[in-house]
Amino acid sequence: MAQEIMQVSPLPPFMMKALQEADFIVHDHTHIKDPGALSKVTALIGTGSAKVDKKLLTMLPHVKLVAICGVGYDGVDVEACKEKGIVVTHTPGVLTDDVADLAMGLVLSIGRRIPQADKFVRNGDWVDDQFALVHKVSGARIGIVGMGRIGRSIAKRAAAFDMRISYTCREAKTDVPYAFHQTVTQLAAEVDYLVVAVPGGDSTKNMVGASVLKALGNKGYLINIARGSVVDQPVLVQTLKDKEIAGAALDVFWDEPIIDPELRRLPNVVLTPHIASATVETRQAMAALTLSNLQAFYERRALPTPVPECQ
Ligand code: NAP
Repeated sequence: MAQEIMQVSPLPPFMMKALQEADFIVHDHTHIKDPGALSKVTALIGTGSAKVDKKLLTMLPHVKLVAICGVGYDGVDVEACKEKGIVVTHTPGVLTDDVADLAMGLVLSIGRRIPQADKFVRNGDWVDDQFALVHKVSGARIGIVGMGRIGRSIAKRAAAFDMRISYTCREAKTDVPYAFHQTVTQLAAEVDYLVVAVPGGDSTKNMVGASVLKALGNKGYLINIARGSVVDQPVLVQTLKDKEIAGAALDVFWDEPIIDPELRRLPNVVLTPHIASATVETRQAMAALTLSNLQAFYERRALPTPVPECQ
């Protein structure tokens, strides 16, 4: 019998195709055509931007699985899910390389001012001007906030650039050779590039605020590939305007995709549209792992990748 599921965020076409080929009936929570669907749906599927709260769950009495196509699931009320016996899955690991690649790309872009240099050439400014010198990235000091899958992968790449690596997270790691700092502020004070790679959610909300940015200082750069919520964005914008840090390279934002116009106008930023995992290979691997979780759930097999709280 075809299983009825509901998408709680837009899904890529190849994912929809795979779901249909696997015989799932997919309802869209923003355009429910079948009024009886709410009581037939047994699983929810969405990307890392999906919002699954108590109110939604109350409307869907038979849901027993929330399958997130992404590693971050800060939009899902996991406690409310657990209270209702709902398991949450995500897609850790398969996107790690891509996110670390983009993080290093952003370090190089903001440090070497690659987008600004591109504009300089396109505008014809090179004809009667020289592009200003910048500081060397190889050998610079990088501080990583979060030494999980992505943080470790960023460190591996930074090591290839002979960068001096230090980090912070909840617990110091015994299996990495990098210097540990107890707080983000202490870490920021010691580095040229501060790269954020922690999950979103209440425990990390505004973790990078005024004191961290002050410690980073006017020669330091902030890179965020984690979640917009981790950085106090209005404070960051003011800090950038006042040139109290050298610059920021951001893949994630408050209220994305609507970006603060002040932030968009700043010259000392590089902005990308939440594309850290956006390669064909990785998005297909994420979709395949999400499908594996759904199939395992309906076939009553062990779920491949439940979130830690549901293990
Ligand atoms: P992970 O393996 O679970 O690592 C998370 C790291 O963050 C761990 O080192 C953890 O510390 C640390 N951490 C968690 N809460 C913390 C807190 N309150 N204070 C300090 N450190 C804390 O996760 P991951 O696979 O590396 O992914 C990290 C995040 O990247 C995801 O949750 C997601 O939000 C984001 N992401 C963004 C994109 C994008 O498109 N831009 C793509 C993928 C992922 P411990 O090791 O001490 O537990």
